[in-house]
Amino acid sequence: MIYLDHNATSVMRPEVKEAIIEAMNLVGNPSSVHRFGKKARGLVDEVRYKLADTLGVKPDWVVFTSGGTEANHLALMGMVPSAFLVSSIEHDSILQNVKSHLCPVHEIGVDENGLIDLDELQERLAGYDAPVFTSVMLANNETGVVQPIKEVADLVHKYGGYLHCDAVQALGKIRVDFHQLGVDLLTVSAHKFGGPKGVGALIVPDNIPLQPVLLGGGQENKMRAGTENIPAIIGFGAALGHASMDLSIQSLRDDMEKMIQEISPESIIFAQNVDRLPNTSYITMPGVSHETQIMSLDLDGIAVSSGSACSSGKVAMSHVLRAMGIDEKTAETTIRISLGWNTTQEDIDGFLISWKKLFERTRDLNKGNQAVGFA
Ligand code: PLP
Repeated sequence: MIYLDHNATSVMRPEVKEAIIEAMNLVGNPSSVHRFGKKARGLVDEVRYKLADTLGVKPDWVVFTSGGTEANHLALMGMVPSAFLVSSIEHDSILQNVKSHLCPVHEIGVDENGLIDLDELQERLAGYDAPVFTSVMLANNETGVVQPIKEVADLVHKYGGYLHCDAVQALGKIRVDFHQLGVDLLTVSAHKFGGPKGVGALIVPDNIPLQPVLLGGGQENKMRAGTENIPAIIGFGAALGHASMDLSIQSLRDDMEKMIQEISPESIIFAQNVDRLPNTSYITMPGVSHETQIMSLDLDGIAVSSGSACSSGKVAMSHVLRAMGIDEKTAETTIRISLGWNTTQEDIDGFLISWKKLFERTRDLNKGNQAVGFA
């Protein structure tokens, strides 16, 4: 099995599994005052300090959540701004959430590489008298493109607003420093870089007027009620020992892209010349639908994905590619290959053999320009 879908979820690291199994033997509730409770509290706080140190923030700014989706929801539901500004390529946990608010929502466009239009952002910011709330992701899950967040933050602050940043895809792949980014709220998640699923955090500085969404026991500095998921938080902590990606991943990715371009010079590699995550490639195989590519690779034991969302049995075009101005036909031939901490040269060689086999087979079949696998 060759797993190249680490942006969907990465493979859990062995030391994370061990830490979780050990944590499952713990008895106490971190809110209890007896020794079992204190032990559990101490272990949760150890991870809080570790995450704070990784991101360069104060430990009591860390609010553990059930993952990136919940952290994004807390950031957006806990504020009452005059308007929301979001980039048009945000994750659905942002885009769907803002639709549920009563105030105006504006989606800020991106260019052909998926980089946010700073002029449009400035225009929108200038159009409001009262502060607006802006949310822009650090790295995109489909293209891997890294946004100029510091420039976004400077603009947002010039107009007196707040900036939330979804760094779910960035942590574990590139350096994430809260103060260097200049943001006001930051979302992270454990399962994108070798930690467990179902745990993440929102960073909430003490001067940010955020209201909790989950009320009850007052856990997490009164920002998120509910007994902490101790094994998951401890697993998150174990993964944080590897919060930066091995440089060899980028050369594996870059060599793979060179080979793809040799095999198929007409293939498009999206956002190849802008700042991208070191592990992500978003590539077209001209004339071959992503469904055909994914199924054919799967038959060879290789896991990749497309950028398209599948809901109620219907595959929709990627909103990210649409926002980048890519036509539907090209978007339909795009797959995402995302490498991870355990990806080897042999994995990439195996992928390339399988990809080339499909490319040559369909090229020979399609003497004309007919696409394979399109309905
Ligand atoms: N934000 C981004 C950019 C993501 O890629 C994801 C997951 O795919 C999420 C948020 C949601 O994170 P989680 O799966 O931890 O809820």
